[in-house]
Amino acid sequence: MNVAIVGAGPAGLGVARVLRDIGVPDVWVLERGQVGQSFFDWPAGTRLLTPSFPANTFGLTDLNAISYDSSPGWSLKREHPDGAAYAQYLKQAAMVFGLDVQCGVEVSALEPQEQGLAISTSVGEIHANFVIWACGQFNTPSDGGIEGATLARHYAEIPCWQSISGDEVFVVGGYESGIDAAVGLASVGKRVTVLGRDAHWLMDDKDPSRALSPYTRQRLDATLAEGQVALVEGADVVAMEREAQGIRLFGSDGRSWLSPDAPVLATGFASGTKQVSSWFEYDDTGLPMLTPQDESTTLPGLFLVGPEVAHGDQLFCFIYKFRQRFAVVANAIAGRLGVDTSALEVYRACNMYLDDLTCCEDDKCFC
Ligand SMILES: Cc1cc2nc3c(=O)[nH]c(=O)nc-3n(C[C@H](O)[C@H](O)[C@H](O)COP(=O)(O)OP(=O)(O)OC[C@H]3O[C@@H](n4cnc5c(N)ncnc54)[C@H](O)[C@@H]3O)c2cc1C
Repeated sequence: MNVAIVGAGPAGLGVARVLRDIGVPDVWVLERGQVGQSFFDWPAGTRLLTPSFPANTFGLTDLNAISYDSSPGWSLKREHPDGAAYAQYLKQAAMVFGLDVQCGVEVSALEPQEQGLAISTSVGEIHANFVIWACGQFNTPSDGGIEGATLARHYAEIPCWQSISGDEVFVVGGYESGIDAAVGLASVGKRVTVLGRDAHWLMDDKDPSRALSPYTRQRLDATLAEGQVALVEGADVVAMEREAQGIRLFGSDGRSWLSPDAPVLATGFASGTKQVSSWFEYDDTGLPMLTPQDESTTLPGLFLVGPEVAHGDQLFCFIYKFRQRFAVVANAIAGRLGVDTSALEVYRACNMYLDDLTCCEDDKCFC
């Protein structure tokens, strides 16, 4: 195998498509579940918050597209597709692009060899010259370091909001998934208290990687108007303990709250690189450190694509952001294989090839 891409989500499929366009041979996507597995695993009804709109022909590629010539907005006829619908778009894209995907292959480790990398998988060892890690983070929920967190259920483990018992629910964490949980729970008749350490709902950052997206804000405002959701700011939950009447949540400032049933943890996700963590260095925030080509700083030939790609202050945590780095990785691999990269020009023309990060200034939005 020339290139093994681990994970068939938007990142793995998107970079596979670029490699196909420039003619890199023998590229395989290895997926432990099915194409788009993480999206199938989202809570039922949860939708993409970035809008889809088929504006590709005017050079404005649908924000949720993984290629310059596809649009979930057009193919799904939805502006905010839910997880299951978006997974169907990914399946269709893999088929239409003619990508080679092997499903049911779980990768557990990597080992450098004299030439290339040995990949340990659930179906035996595979050898590849290059590995592109594209496992995302949905499969590695974080408990936020909260003592007793096993008493709660993480957002990523909830199939649907109806499955949460009780009329009153506490949600720990007030960013995108916390507010999505609150709105979803309220929609099935629950009274919800959101305990947020940082009041993301009050932040006015222009970068949606740091503040609530307009879509979530809009849904929250509508739900707040109905009076079923209470937001508590500065609530830094550090521990939880079972009591006779429920589960007590302890804040670092001495406050506490009694949750009648298991609270919902919306405390984010850990790094999705754990199987290969010995081959990455990590910065103070826990993000993998990368070369300018998004390659591991310690293991040449191992690349990262997806939401954990970061350079300086720039976090590529949305699809419309991280897709702009697929061509960077493809260009690096093609360069080592002596493959012609002129086909990448179309990516640059379509804002899908971002190698000059000076353009991503925070303050580009004045009103
Ligand atoms: C509720 C929610 C809403 C979101 N909304 C948006 C949005 O509106 N817009 C946006 O841009 N982003 C959104 N995101 C983030 C977005 O979903 C992720 O950034 C995106 O899915 C990352 O793509 P990926 O391909 O890197 O990872 P994933 O989509 O998670 O795909 C990774 C794949 O790798 C597979 N895999 C994992 N481990 C292994 C292994 N060891 N071996 C083999 N295969 C493996 C998984 O099964 C999965 O199919 C949202 C996330 C959540 C949770």
